[in-house]
Amino acid sequence: MTTELPNSARAVVIGGGIVGCSTAYHLAKLGWTDTVVIERHKLTSGSTFHAAGLVGQLRTSANITQLLGYSVELYKRLEAETGQATGWKMHGGLRLACNQERWSEVRRQATTATSFGLQMHLLSPREAQEMWPLMEVHDVVGAAFLPTDGQASPSDVTMALAKGARMAGVKICEDTNVTSIEVRDGKVVAVVTDRGRIECDAVAVCAGQWTRELGASVGVSVPLVSVEHQYLITTPIEGVTRDLPTLRDPDRLTYYKEEVGGLVMGGYEPDPIPWAIDGIPREFNFKLLDSNSDHFAPIMDLAIGRVPALATAGVNQLINGPESFTPDGNFILGEAPEVRGFFVGAGFNAFGIAAGGGAGMALAEWVHKGVPPYDLWVVDIRRFGQPHRDVDWVRTRTLEAYAKHYTMAWPHEEHSSGRPNRVSPLYETLVTRGAVFGEKMGWERPNWFAGAGGERRDRYSFGRQNWFDAVGREHVAAREAAVLIDQTSFAKFKLSGRGVVEALGWICANRVDKPVGALTYTQMLDDRGGIQCDLTVCRTGDNEFYIVTGTGFVTHDRDWITQAIKRWPEVRLDEVTNDRSVLSLMGPRARDILSATTDDDVSHAGFPFATGRTIRVAGREVLALRVTYIGELGWELHLARADAMAVYDALNNAGRRHGLVDAGYRAIESLRLEKGYRAWGSDIGPDHTPIEAGLGWAVKRTSAGVDFRGSEAIERQRREGVRKMLAGFTVDASHVLLGRETIYRDGVRVGWLTSGGYGYTIRRSIGYGYVRRAEGVTADFVTSGKYELEVATQRVPAEVSLAPFYDPEMSKVKS
Ligand SMILES: Cc1cc2nc3c(=O)[nH]c(=O)nc-3n(C[C@H](O)[C@H](O)[C@H](O)COP(=O)(O)OP(=O)(O)OC[C@H]3O[C@@H](n4cnc5c(N)ncnc54)[C@H](O)[C@@H]3O)c2cc1C
Repeated sequence: MTTELPNSARAVVIGGGIVGCSTAYHLAKLGWTDTVVIERHKLTSGSTFHAAGLVGQLRTSANITQLLGYSVELYKRLEAETGQATGWKMHGGLRLACNQERWSEVRRQATTATSFGLQMHLLSPREAQEMWPLMEVHDVVGAAFLPTDGQASPSDVTMALAKGARMAGVKICEDTNVTSIEVRDGKVVAVVTDRGRIECDAVAVCAGQWTRELGASVGVSVPLVSVEHQYLITTPIEGVTRDLPTLRDPDRLTYYKEEVGGLVMGGYEPDPIPWAIDGIPREFNFKLLDSNSDHFAPIMDLAIGRVPALATAGVNQLINGPESFTPDGNFILGEAPEVRGFFVGAGFNAFGIAAGGGAGMALAEWVHKGVPPYDLWVVDIRRFGQPHRDVDWVRTRTLEAYAKHYTMAWPHEEHSSGRPNRVSPLYETLVTRGAVFGEKMGWERPNWFAGAGGERRDRYSFGRQNWFDAVGREHVAAREAAVLIDQTSFAKFKLSGRGVVEALGWICANRVDKPVGALTYTQMLDDRGGIQCDLTVCRTGDNEFYIVTGTGFVTHDRDWITQAIKRWPEVRLDEVTNDRSVLSLMGPRARDILSATTDDDVSHAGFPFATGRTIRVAGREVLALRVTYIGELGWELHLARADAMAVYDALNNAGRRHGLVDAGYRAIESLRLEKGYRAWGSDIGPDHTPIEAGLGWAVKRTSAGVDFRGSEAIERQRREGVRKMLAGFTVDASHVLLGRETIYRDGVRVGWLTSGGYGYTIRRSIGYGYVRRAEGVTADFVTSGKYELEVATQRVPAEVSLAPFYDPEMSKVKS
């Protein structure tokens, strides 16, 4: 029976895979019953029907773990609610470690699980084998068991979600192809199909690997590519029981689950094969690719070493299915910054069954409220930018991410493919000076500088890594002399036009209506008081501001500001990232060095802290901002790219006798941790208000007659108090903090670290994290407890502080 196509709907969901059906199901729950799902063929006919169906939960982000946990809760109850079987089985998941480094990783994951409130037990090889008797454990060092992991039948779960959606009034139209999406004045107005046109307020594009092209048709960038993925299904094997946990064996690149008395075994080949480089064939529905047993042979050999019974088991099928993967291994969710009302839920990197329930819930709420239920930055479509518009680059990086799926996730690990992509004018010079680069948003950025004769590459481990001493030298130079840091990758904007002071005043939590030349550190808040942006703004004219924000936040912050200023039609935002270089000159000798290269007055009186103005350095025009993220006297020098080399040379020449050295981003991290400066995306973000984050000092008082976005939520917290508060912790230097370690106060779990590292001046490991309590948290409560941190399952004593560990009086910065 063909469902009649309506002329209009409140929302149109494109794609009848697990994600589209879950989104429609949840939209209906939110009252959007006037929703239509459009599927070009039949439900599940994309990637969903051939998924293996493992459902794991633990990720490095607390909120993504929570989202996957929501999937589990949903799959548990869906059959009872809809009467449609889902094949859900919760027999837990095992993960093996076959060497000491992997065991360190697993123990850190166990602590992450504790932090996020998930149970995860560490087992001996023997205990693991008792749960999974078919496996060999001669090479196993240990294992972890997550009792609430499980498996589902992908098609059945999808059908149950579709049934639940239909029961609530959603229309599902199969055999209907979306041919175009109509956009008017930057907003979606209709979806056109081969059976007619549907006017709508919003479209949720959950079209799997077809999403990139649908996006591109209206100028939306969805950086995903198709990659082949294989698993085999055996005939029944003696000893395989229905209650077998799922098994992941990352050192052998493989995963397993029980299926009809046999095993499903799949793996991540180190040399993945991209698919459909020239476009997806038109009639590709309910189809598989030819199995490629040669390509699978090394995976098979590794698997037989673990499960010898596979050598003699009959093989029912070697499934080869294409799936969409992304450059950072995470899926893509949210409203596209290019087109209003165009929501994306795609790119699920072979965990779309595990994520489908939660992702559909989150996307539905995003459509409904305009914001996600909680901070989903790690999967937010706005985490991408310029390099992600180049499909070849995306494919290169995605293949690297695929190949690394089961390799060790080292702390501080950098990608190696598709580099260099974007470089500063100083790049070649910094190479000759020993820079070891990291990459963000395609930009090459110096992480650290190897000394003469030193090896110029990272050597990863879970202990202190090879760059530790070199970064220490840069850190000390910043505290005692001066450093020069190439921060060209900063995202930079000009906001200008009539009404700009009022507009920016509305979206900034701090006061920006100051005289020309004033520099303000500020957050931009949402209606809940959550920190959407964290940046500095400099008033460069009566009707002009210069805005500087983090490299990775360029798309996000541009989108946030653009949406927020719509009420002021004459205000415009222009991005100048690619036009301007940035050299940061920081440290107690910064003034001596700068004054040797300029005739302008850079004395404290002549150029106070938190001001910015144009000066000439080495004869070149430079916008100098007296600001710091490392806690020392210093200036960010923003200048034309063409002038960067000359100014760098002049500063270096002048700096030689003052001990000036090059420094990189790892030194910045160590310095900012000591100084207590917050990092957006880890310490602060939409889930946190400035009051909770200890940034209340940067929020203007509404009693002064100024209103701003988010002020109500802030005032409420000021009156009623908060339930969590960001605090700093230090532990003995022998413990390596990476973030996500569990915080215990008087023996009770109260939170986890949002960031971690080492402070070379205080010679202790440093972490930040929210201390949480349902009844409320005060400064007294935070500082009165006795603290421990759990680091890789070991509890270690910790000291807490609400004040910076370095220069709390700001005497260095304001000298
Ligand atoms: C071999 C293999 C094993 C896997 N194993 C697992 C696993 O164990 N666990 C796990 O969690 N995940 C696994 N996955 C991943 C999982 O299958 C996917 O992540 C998930 O199915 C993605 O669902 P989706 O709804 O995003 O996309 P899809 O299922 O591809 O759905 C997209 C739908 O959009 C429709 N569509 C496209 N264009 C249009 C258009 N123009 N008009 C109308 N409709 C359109 C398509 O027909 C399709 O039905 C595996 C994947 C593969 C390939």
